[in-house]
Amino acid sequence: MQTLDKTQVKFAELAARLNEITDIESASSLLHWDQATYMPAKGASARGRQLATLKQISHEKFTDPTIGKLLEDLRSYEQSLPYDSNTASLIRIARRDYNRAARVPAAFMAKLCRHQADCYEAWACAKAANNFSAVEPYLEKTLELSRQYADFFPGYEHIADPLIDRSDYGMKVSILRPLFAELRQELVPIVQAIASQPLADDFCLHQHFPEAQQLEFTRTVIERMGYDFQRGRQDTTLHPFMTNFSIDDVRITTRVYEEHLDQALFSSIHEAGHALYELGNSPEFEGTLLAGGISSGVHESQSRLWENLVGRSRGFWECFYPQLQGVFLRQLGHVTTDQFYKAINKVARSLVRTDADEVTYNLHVAIRFDLELAMVEGKLAVRDLPEAWNERYKNDLGIVPANDSEGAMQDVHWYVGTIGGMFQGYTLGNLMSAQFYETAVKNHPEIPVEIEHGNFTILHDWLKQNIYQHGRKYTAVELVDRVTGSPLTIEPFVRYIRHKYGEFYVI
Ligand code: ZN
Repeated sequence: MQTLDKTQVKFAELAARLNEITDIESASSLLHWDQATYMPAKGASARGRQLATLKQISHEKFTDPTIGKLLEDLRSYEQSLPYDSNTASLIRIARRDYNRAARVPAAFMAKLCRHQADCYEAWACAKAANNFSAVEPYLEKTLELSRQYADFFPGYEHIADPLIDRSDYGMKVSILRPLFAELRQELVPIVQAIASQPLADDFCLHQHFPEAQQLEFTRTVIERMGYDFQRGRQDTTLHPFMTNFSIDDVRITTRVYEEHLDQALFSSIHEAGHALYELGNSPEFEGTLLAGGISSGVHESQSRLWENLVGRSRGFWECFYPQLQGVFLRQLGHVTTDQFYKAINKVARSLVRTDADEVTYNLHVAIRFDLELAMVEGKLAVRDLPEAWNERYKNDLGIVPANDSEGAMQDVHWYVGTIGGMFQGYTLGNLMSAQFYETAVKNHPEIPVEIEHGNFTILHDWLKQNIYQHGRKYTAVELVDRVTGSPLTIEPFVRYIRHKYGEFYVI
């Protein structure tokens, strides 16, 4: 009895220390949000210092040996509890995060952070000047530091695994490489078939759509999806994102292009999908390490599910298109639902990942994933990256970038992050979104008809019940298995693509 009491005191101490750290991190998130939304430009340098101070405090508090000792002392208590109990899960997740943070010396992390800031500056200039060789030495250093980071985790199967673990815990090159290769094999011929047929006409999306009306309409849509403006808000930023300060304060941002109707619309649905996930966490997880989303892949599966499987479906627009036409009568009055549906699902060979449609998107990701693996494996030198990039675009998408700014320097990821572990989450998200949605519809075949009536309650409740409420409790692999009864596979995604696009194209 006395031992149990002692254990509970230790658990309470651990929980209290962890809560303090999540509070500091929430304060950092608020400073970040403010920086991206309302902070005047000249506030940037002080804000950078304030964020660095908070980061250092939370890192020191988290890697304090007392936490390590408490986790050790609580090991047998954790093992005596059911795996999915909140207490065992909190100890397990804390141990995982602690081990990762404690293995990498603070001095190394500081060096990496400084280098990332320099590399970002160099990339921004090199990209603007289309001069890859100016950023090449920085990227070489990033590669060296990425390999050093992996070495803090001896015993890995593949050198990229510890880097992948940072955002997609438990995913490994040995799982991802065959999965992505299989997907590429399916997608390349589909893209070739579609590209040989006439392009969809998306002129209707590229007229003038005033910002205020776009924002009002997207607000109606995301509110109907279940985004609660009493527990969140939407602002505009250069790059859309979602952030949370508590389970009851999950905010999103969007960007509006007045000549591109699809930007604000789909980025809002996407970010609202991320937000619904976190708003749907069990309220008991408030302020704990169990709140939030499991991994970048699972998070992206929730945004993509709403953006693509729901938001780009015909049924969704059966409901919302008449309303959209009402708002933009002059621009869309003569455009039929069918023409609009085809426009928002236009498939084209393109160079830019972020603008890619859902059929070609994963090919863009696969190229980056393979190239970053080749670099960390030492099989591809940084100086040969632009050529290797262009070669893969020619093979997989049938087009070649005109310069390195739209080629190897296109995405910011390698230039502010590591080489390895930066891109897999996007494709994991797409694959999981289709597998989850297929399961939801199998359990509730009325979901598509409900969507046609603008009713998302059944789908939203199913997602809450099966995914959102669990927060970070399960790993991505465990969650997919629990929810869908099968390991992650490409089949639901390929079925979805073939079915949807088989309607417009011979594939
Ligand atoms: Zn996202």
